[in-house]
This record gives sequence, C-alpha cells and structure tokens, in this order.
Amino acid sequence: MSDTTQVMSRIPCLDLRGQHDQIKDEIFAAWEKVYEKTAFSGGPFVEEFEKEFALYSSAKHAIGVSNGTTALHLAMLALGIGPGDEVIIPADTFIATAWGVSHAGATPVFVDCTADTWQIDITKIEEKITPRTKAIIGVHLYGQPFDIDGVKAICKKHNLFMVEDAAQAQGARYKGTTVGGFGEMACFSFYPGKNLGACGEAGGITTNYDEYKTHLHSLRNHGSTVRYYHDEIGYNYRMGGLEGASLSVKLKYLEGWNNRRRQIAKKYHSSISNPKIKLQLQPEWSDSVFHLYVITTEDRDGLTKYLNEKNIFPALHYPVSCHLQKAYAHLGYKEGDCPNAEYLASHCLSLPMYAELTDEQVHYVIEALNAY
Ligand SMILES: *Cc1c(COP(=O)(O)O)cnc(C)c1O
Repeated sequence: MSDTTQVMSRIPCLDLRGQHDQIKDEIFAAWEKVYEKTAFSGGPFVEEFEKEFALYSSAKHAIGVSNGTTALHLAMLALGIGPGDEVIIPADTFIATAWGVSHAGATPVFVDCTADTWQIDITKIEEKITPRTKAIIGVHLYGQPFDIDGVKAICKKHNLFMVEDAAQAQGARYKGTTVGGFGEMACFSFYPGKNLGACGEAGGITTNYDEYKTHLHSLRNHGSTVRYYHDEIGYNYRMGGLEGASLSVKLKYLEGWNNRRRQIAKKYHSSISNPKIKLQLQPEWSDSVFHLYVITTEDRDGLTKYLNEKNIFPALHYPVSCHLQKAYAHLGYKEGDCPNAEYLASHCLSLPMYAELTDEQVHYVIEALNAY
C-alpha cells in the first residue's frame, strides 16, 4: 500500500517518454529501412501501414494522410460537401472536427451532448437538420464510441452521410465491432499523443467504399492519379514514410496499450468514491480505449490546486466548447445554446492516463482524489 502523505514524483496527464523508451530500437530499425529506400513521402511503408490498419479497424481500406485535420477535410471533399452545406457535429469535441467542415467551405452546426455520456445527444439532432444538411460527424470522444445506431438511424431517415471522428478511438469497440467502418468514412489522427501516435504528424481515413478510396488517393496527392495530370484541385496531404514505418511498429503494441488503459480506467471507475467527483457514464455497448479519463467536479480550480500539491497534474479537455470559440463567433451561438457541453467545458478535468502508469501511481491518484 502506498502512503498518500508521502508525495510521489510528478505524475502528468500524459507521458510519452515511457512508451518511446520501450520501442526505440525497433523504431530506429524501421526508420533505417525507410532511409535505405529513400521512401520519405508516401510509398511502401505507408502502404504497408494502410493495409495493417484497415485490417485492424475492420474496414476495407485505409488511406494515410498528413494528420487528423486533413483526414476530416478530405472526407468532407470526398462526400462532395462544400460551400452552402451544413454538417452536424457535437459541440464538445476537439476543434479540429469543426475545421474539417470549415476547410471544405461548409458550415458546422453544433449539437449538445448528453449530461452523462458526454456524447452527441441524439434527441437534439433532428431539430438542427435543414435542407442544407449533408452529414453528421459523430465523435468517439475520449475514446468512447458515440451512439452509432442512434445517429445512423437519423442519417438514414434524412438521407445524410455519417462520418466517424475516431481520432481518439483507435481500437475502441461499439457492440463488439472495432470503430472505423460504421459510416461512409472514419477519420483518425495519429498525432503523437493519441492512443496510436506516429513519431511525427500523421492521420488516416478508413472506408468500406472503393470509390471514396480512389477519390481520396487523388485528393491527397494534388488531385492526380497519373503523375503530372491533375483532374481536380488537389492537396499535398500525403503521409510521410518515417511516420508510416513508426506506426507499423506501434500498431503491434496497440491492443496491449489499450488494454492497460482499460485496466487503469476500471480501477479509477471502481475506486474513486468521492461524491465531489462525477465520472463519465459508460453505456454497456461501449468498449472505450480511454484516450482520456475525464471527470467533472464543481470546484475544478480547487481540486487542481490540491492535486498539484500532491504532484499530480491533470489537464483540461476542453475548456471552451466549439460553439463558443471566437473562431465561430460569426455563427451567432451564445451561452446556454449547448448547456451540457458548456457545463463539461467549465467542470471537466482529465486524470493521468497512459499505459505506462504503474499500479502504485494509479493507487496514489485514487487515494488523493478520495481524500479530497
Ligand atoms: C486530435 C483530434 C483531431 C485532429 O487530429 P490532428 O492529427 O491533430 O490534426 C480531430 N478530432 C479529434 C476528436 C481529435 O482529438
């Protein structure tokens, strides 16, 4: 048993060091192969990772791109979404979900989350649908799948596309199936801090549709399928070879890392008993990969100060919900439009969560929270 009166060494919300120390030799060996082949942009190492990741995500195709934001942008373009169109997204997500829509020239329409799962509230979607609505992007926020069947039913009824923002959810399962193949496309980020993160910037799109795959290959590569012939205005959104090779190495470890995160979450969930702390509801159909472990509390500043004194450094994901960001002031949202998302933004706190946390550290965090 650890003694909570004795302060441990610093426990951050996320520490990338431990993971990268473990696999340094393997990563460097993979990079040497990339270097020997000078396959730095796209190429065989990206293609290999695409095959492996499609298989892992139970989707037919995976398309590697430069990051998660460009993945969302290209998904919108491949669906033909552009100026004059509207896309429904949750108000509580990382802002990049909205960027994907805006970069395509369309307008994000923000919907509140539920008060307990913090996922998009499917009872509040239909009132936001207009003749301009083209798609719904559901977000597997914090690694927990959203109500996919609920969103899909609305998409079907109103003839809308469904896109998964799975940036935080590599390996999460919804009713037993790994996320990535439920809608027209799913967008992933392989930013270093995600559950599966490249040693560099990277992202990807999965899809079961051949025509989207073909179009995405062209869009990410200057609108070109035959070199120097450009059929449409395209982008340079390719994934780098070094990033692809690092992802192939890490993918082999992902299940193990995710399972360790699940184990830590289970400990938090069953042992945090302080009534001042509220936990995220985990519906029975959801098998989260706990990209983040978020709680809410009334006096967030007080709890943060208390934890910091014990050398525990939680983080905020995210302090301002999307509809109230300055960047979207022109859309005219005001406080009170998405009350649950706003409550979450002003009361959320992300506890330490990464696979290399020791049992002793987890226990120390729990004891500290319960003693607060
Ligand atoms: C990280 C993230 C993105 C964007 O990915 P980048 O690789 O950082 O561009 C998009 N959506 C969500 C929910 C994210 O967490």
